[in-house]
Formats: sequence, structure tokens, C-alpha cells
Amino acid sequence: MKVELQVTPKITITAESDTCEDAFTQLAEMSQVFGNGKCEKCKCEDLEFVRREVAGQGKKSYTYYELRCKNYECKAKLKFSKSDDGDFYPQRYQRTKDADGKPTYVFDDDGRKIQAGKWGWVRWNKDTGQEE
Ligand SMILES: [Zn+2]
Repeated sequence: MKVELQVTPKITITAESDTCEDAFTQLAEMSQVFGNGKCEKCKCEDLEFVRREVAGQGKKSYTYYELRCKNYECKAKLKFSKSDDGDFYPQRYQRTKDADGKPTYVFDDDGRKIQAGKWGWVRWNKDTGQEE
């Protein structure tokens, strides 16, 4: 079976499988990555997929995946992460590092993850020196 789903005005994703469960899984994974059709900061729909490799100076190199708003006045971005088991997903919540230097989320007083920027879309704020 082949299932097509239009997730934004510009992007259609396709899953192919013999089972509904597998097709569902494929659509779920793809839609969380490709279903972001607009910048949540300024609502602009002119976005670009950015992939860049940054070689650390004597350290491990990293590959960054971002969806970037092409509105020059905005330039917000939605970053993506890859989990240890290969899941590829948007970073919608604030992160920090634990005592061992391992990435972890920031939680509020009720134990809920705190949203980064506007549903993960962040911009550099030079006044505060952080992404908001
Ligand atoms: Zn924007």
C-alpha cells in the first residue's frame, strides 16, 4: 500500500508498506520533521532546510539540522535532534546538561518540560546572550 499525505501547502510525504501500522509509523516520523510549514515566530511560510557540519577544534564534529525562516527580519530556526535509537525529531523544549554533561531537558516546578522559544522556533537575542 502507498499512502500520501500533504503535510504543508508545499510538502507531501509518502509512506509505502504492507501494513497499516508500519505506514502509520512512517507518516508519524516524517510528519514531525516535514510537517512544519511555517515559522511559529512570524508565521512566514518561506522556509529552508539547513544541514551543516561543524568540525570541532580537536573535538568531536557535529552535524546540525535546522529549518530556517527566510524572512530576513525574523531568521528564526527550528533545530532537529537525533536520539540514540535513531529517532529524528524537532527540538521543541529547552535543554541543558546534567552533572555528567549529558543533555537533558529543563523542567518547571510542576515537572513539565519548558518550551523553547515559540514551539521550538528560536532566535538569538543578543541582549540576553541566548536563543529565545
Ligand atoms: Zn520567522
